[in-house]
Amino acid sequence: MGATMLIVYGLAASCANIAGGVLVSSPRIGRTALKYLIGLGAGFMLATVFLAVVPEAVALWEKPHLHPMAWLLAGYLMLQLFEHTIAPHFHFGEETHEDAMIAHHAALTGVGALMIHAFFDGVSITIGFLVNTHLGLLLFFAILLHKLPEGFTVASMVLAAGRTRNDARMASLLLGVATLAGSCSALAFGQVSIWSRPLSAYALPLSAGVTLYVAASDLIPEVNKREGGLRASLMVFAGVALFYLAELFF
Ligand SMILES: [Zn+2]
Ligand SMILES: [Zn+2]
Repeated sequence: MGATMLIVYGLAASCANIAGGVLVSSPRIGRTALKYLIGLGAGFMLATVFLAVVPEAVALWEKPHLHPMAWLLAGYLMLQLFEHTIAPHFHFGEETHEDAMIAHHAALTGVGALMIHAFFDGVSITIGFLVNTHLGLLLFFAILLHKLPEGFTVASMVLAAGRTRNDARMASLLLGVATLAGSCSALAFGQVSIWSRPLSAYALPLSAGVTLYVAASDLIPEVNKREGGLRASLMVFAGVALFYLAELFF
């Protein structure tokens, strides 16, 4: 696949971020629909990480098998650090805790945390394609599903901090830029080798850890909040079913 096509996939994911940011200003947006999308994205992502990315990452390393799993753990912990250790108040989904946001000036660190997260969304998509087209397409769809709610999340953070709708849209644009920057960086460094291995041998399990964190620790808690109820939770299983459907098509 050519470099231009790879960038197009990164760009498509970025546009979903921006669309999510625009939606936050619309009073008629279905919050429940967004919640279902988060559930669907979480299920698809979990299936992609466990059934497609991890086996591929292990195959890139013959021996010892500890290494790709250590990179996966590092990716997972990296988001724990940026989203919940450095950022004092962060959660996926609509930000409605105005006091917490204003009191802790947390919006800025929240936006920063999501930008790092979005950067790795972009990295994952491109690294997937660099390994093979099948994996790239699966990762692209897995990540695309949560990009709209992600843009919505960042815009609602900025609004909750008392900023304007323009600032909110600008924040979702920044997420889009971070995603695209991730895609471009992965493309630029994709062919580089470290210690006789291609960089993708490290980046694939690392970004799998990031994706696992996004699915299991950012999206699932949002699905499990009271308002979504049974149906939002069922969407997680629908996401896994969708993964199997996608496997048939790609
Ligand atoms: Zn909050
Ligand atoms: Zn994301």
